[in-house]
Amino acid sequence: MAGEQSSPASGSTPSPTAEGAVAGPSGEGYDPKCVFCRIARQEEPGTQLLPCESEDLVCFPDIRPGAPHHYLVVPKRHIGNCKILKKEDTSLVEKMITVGKTVLQQKNITNLSDVRMGFHWPPFCSIGHLHLHVLAPASQMGFLSRLIYRRNSYWFITVSIKMSRNKWDIFKCAIELF
Ligand SMILES: [Zn+2]
Ligand SMILES: [Zn+2]
Repeated sequence: MAGEQSSPASGSTPSPTAEGAVAGPSGEGYDPKCVFCRIARQEEPGTQLLPCESEDLVCFPDIRPGAPHHYLVVPKRHIGNCKILKKEDTSLVEKMITVGKTVLQQKNITNLSDVRMGFHWPPFCSIGHLHLHVLAPASQMGFLSRLIYRRNSYWFITVSIKMSRNKWDIFKCAIELF
């Protein structure tokens, strides 16, 4: 969706290329055909990475912002869409939320209750590499963005900044629902 170019290698079904990338000799889960993998390696000159304290994650602005601030938090490793997330991935999702929150604070966003964060549910994500959308202020999102990033719709799974175990259960329930 917004800000994502389609790539022939991306999609919800794992391609031989994606599998090869995960088990490849580099062992880093890099798919050269995936735009987010290339951005994570700073191989896309048009996309500037934002300072990010995590070694496993990168953060960069969405090329088609849906709010005054719109960032994507992406694991460096090629991980498929949010449908494949399991309970073991809780810490990864929490790390992604923390990075999103930190980036907003770096941009002087102080009202963290007016923030929208979440994942697009397949097939509504055009890039098959896990990414968390971070939008702020949510109250300044336009009509179309409100629709694309609608809270807990069947196409956008919202996550909470203060994700407790309980909240993760809600998130997990949402995953199992679809
Ligand atoms: Zn990738
Ligand atoms: Zn998306």
